[in-house]
Amino acid sequence: MTFEKELAAAINAVQKASRICVTVSEASSPISSVQKEDHSPVSVADLASQALITLALRKHYPDDPIVGEEESKTIQQHEQLGKKVLDLVCTEIDTMNLETLLELVDYGSKTFDSNKRFWTVDPIDGTKGFLRKEQFAVALALLEKGQVVLGVLGCPNMMINNSEPQNRGVLMYAVKGQGTFIMPLNGQNPQKVIVDSITSVNMARFCESVETKHASHDQHQKIADALGITASPCRMDSQVKYAALARGDASIYLRLPRNKEYREKIWDHAAGSIIVEEAGGKVTDFKGNPLQFNLGKNLENNVGILATNKHLHTQVLDAIAEVI
Ligand code: AMP
Ligand code: MG
Repeated sequence: MTFEKELAAAINAVQKASRICVTVSEASSPISSVQKEDHSPVSVADLASQALITLALRKHYPDDPIVGEEESKTIQQHEQLGKKVLDLVCTEIDTMNLETLLELVDYGSKTFDSNKRFWTVDPIDGTKGFLRKEQFAVALALLEKGQVVLGVLGCPNMMINNSEPQNRGVLMYAVKGQGTFIMPLNGQNPQKVIVDSITSVNMARFCESVETKHASHDQHQKIADALGITASPCRMDSQVKYAALARGDASIYLRLPRNKEYREKIWDHAAGSIIVEEAGGKVTDFKGNPLQFNLGKNLENNVGILATNKHLHTQVLDAIAEVI
């Protein structure tokens, strides 16, 4: 099987990082976090997660750059946070010093060539959801020649199935051409998932960000109205939205920009998009163009995101064009 070894390494890394996130989330002390220069929050768990994923991948693939959301300068600017990150990382490995931590967080991300092979990681996608103890995801993807070839999402707060709400913690993965699979976050026995088969768009449910700064809820509602959708939107942080679509919990994921100048980040969509596509769905920008992952850290040529179960894609694109 192609990418068998990479998949095993990626699943292992995401499981380890997810464990750290759960430990931090369930601890009795409040989660330590600071604001980055862009005013978004970053917690001790984001940085520890990125360091652990890098460490786990580097062991097998020392030549692969790992492009992560977090940067070492956050640790340099916040000494106390850095110490807490080191303590946390050392709960999973024997020992690490600050210098190694800084090097790990930036591993390859400054010099990577996005037309060659590299990994991209969002160590906690949806940090705001994580801090609210709601949905978040540990997202890891492998790219070759600008194409996502493998994606793994660790979703510690996603329900395994809707009938047992106490049973949380899902891992989803996809490899190009091999389908999408789901299993308990720390379990085994992966099962294939596919998107739903809804073809009547008015029967569809759509999902969107919780944060209205990340996507325009107003425009989403107008699109839903134009399509005759009456179900209320399913609001969730992070790429858990892609995971929900992949297993048929929703049929549409809308992400229309609040600010058209904003460019989506590759680590926010690489893993999620292959997980939806390999489950039979479709992912484009809001004009219907494929996402272009070979232009650096941003999806420079794409604005907004539309993911669907494929059957509804054209209808939703038409509605978007009408509303905008
Ligand atoms: P979500 O939880 O789906 O709302 O997405 C979380 C991601 O939104 C974060 O990882 C950020 O990288 C990204 N983000 C930050 N600012 C914006 C923005 N203005 N528009 C779209 N996405 C954003
Ligand atoms: Mg993110």
